[in-house]
Formats: sequence, C-alpha cells, structure tokens
Amino acid sequence: MRKKILAANWKMNLTHVEAESYVEAFLHEVGEVNDVEIVIIPSFTSIPTLAQASGNAPLIRLGAQNLHWERSGAFTGEISATMLRALFVKYVIIGHSERRTLFGETDEMVQKKVHTALEAGLRPIMCVGESLAERESGSVQKVLGRQVAEGLKGVSADHLPEIVLAYEPVWAIGTGLTASPAQAEEVHAFLRSLLAELFDKSVADRTRIQYGGSVKPENTEDLMREPNIDGALIGGASLDPHSFARIVRATEKALR
Ligand code: PEP
Repeated sequence: MRKKILAANWKMNLTHVEAESYVEAFLHEVGEVNDVEIVIIPSFTSIPTLAQASGNAPLIRLGAQNLHWERSGAFTGEISATMLRALFVKYVIIGHSERRTLFGETDEMVQKKVHTALEAGLRPIMCVGESLAERESGSVQKVLGRQVAEGLKGVSADHLPEIVLAYEPVWAIGTGLTASPAQAEEVHAFLRSLLAELFDKSVADRTRIQYGGSVKPENTEDLMREPNIDGALIGGASLDPHSFARIVRATEKALR
C-alpha cells in the first residue's frame, strides 16, 4: 500500500544543459514504470529545465533541495515555497545531513521548514540519521527519536502521510559504506513504531520511509525487499542516468 519512491538528489552537480541530456537518456533507458514513484531533485538552476521535461514526461516528479521557512522577504540567497510551487515542484528535501552539519541547520529550523512546505502544498522529504560516533555509542534511537519528534512537532496526523521520512545514516552518505539491509530495516521498523507512538498506527503504516546512504544499482534490490524500506534517496549513483535507471529496474525487480 506504500508506493516505493526513488529520489535522485543531485546536490551541487549538473548544469541545466546537462540536466536536459540526462532526462533524455534516463527516459530512453528506463522505459515504462508503473509501481515506483520517481523524483529528480536538481539544483535550483535546473528546476525550470526539469519542469519542462517532466511536464512532457509525467513519470518524473520534481523536487528541490531546500527552501526557506518565510514566505518572502529580505533573505538573500534563499528560496521560497511559492517560488518552488510556481515551477511545479512537488517534493522538497529538508534537514539533509549536509545542511545540518555544513550549514548549521537545527531541528527547530527543520520543523519550521516542514510546516512551511506542507502549508504550500509541497511534500517534505525529511532527513534524519546518526553519525558514526552516535552509532558506536549506542545512541541511534535517542538521536533519531529527537530528530523525528522535533522535526514533526505540530504536524497533524492527517498530514503525516504527505511527508517522506528519509533515514540517512551520516556515516553511509557519500562514503561507499551502506547500512546492510538488516541494519537499515531494524532502524526503519523503529522509525515506524515511533511514528505510530507520536501519531497513530494507521497513519504510520501509510507513511513512506526511504533509505539513503551509498545506494547503488548493485545493493538496491536487497534493500528494497525489506518490508519497512519504502524507497531510496540517492546521491552519487543518481548522477549518471544509466545508473539511476538501473536502480529503478532493481526496485521493480524487488517488487515482483
Ligand atoms: C544523499 O546525499 O542523500 C545520499 C544518500 O548520498 P549518497 O547516495 O552519495 O551516499
């Protein structure tokens, strides 16, 4: 009942010209896809190009990598939910670990962004994850518990299924290290029980929880077979259209 969702996070890569040829190659290679939702999350400068391309190819949904919580105003360098909506953006990443560690994004900022996104009709992909030190000291559940409870504070149960929770262990992002399917499943099951506690079981069961951290074509199928893993947020391996298409196919295979 939860459609798997694969989201390509391009981070600060690919120009709008490269984005155009990417989409062409990706669509050509991936063919028809019915059971998996595909989201491409380029840098802001490529959003108009992708908006045009995805308008012609309803297979692709569009995402953004960030937004500001205010509607408009003197916030040089920031982007608003309205601006994203005007370009047909549907999803927005909030609280990615790179934003948290490199740009000082706090749980409180994440929470404000989640509310702004929902009010504007955008679907947040809210990222949570522990560092290696936190894992080694046995505080995974404590860290994730705090990030989830703070990030989702004030969200109504009705809105929860519009949010995608992305579990991204920081030690697995861009490092080539992946959580094993069993390790990831254990955390996803914990996150779902946490959502059931904070909201209720039926909305927790309808909310998608993605895994992110060095997902590639070779490890996708095993991860996607796990019952609580509802898709993936993919960085490095999504920069090549052929590799992202292989990840889509591996996900479809896991569903068979
Ligand atoms: C990410 O940035 O969300 C991510 C998971 O990156 P990578 O796939 O490169 O580890």
